[in-house]
Amino acid sequence: MPPACRFRLYCREFHRIGRFEPISQACSACGAKDGPKPLHVRAWRCPGCGAWLDRDINAAVNVARAGLAVTA
Ligand SMILES: [Zn+2]
Repeated sequence: MPPACRFRLYCREFHRIGRFEPISQACSACGAKDGPKPLHVRAWRCPGCGAWLDRDINAAVNVARAGLAVTA
């Protein structure tokens, strides 16, 4: 599969998942949901496992994991 197609699939999954799951609120390490964060909060510590989570990286990891689950 060409890289462009893979990216399109990734984007589609992002929109689909983003609509129903608050992926930026769930810990990418243990899955704990810590509720909504104000937009100025760029990183926080997970209350479940103590991981330090960057908002964007955490969301990206969650999207990638959800995408793998869908295609697996
Ligand atoms: Zn956690």
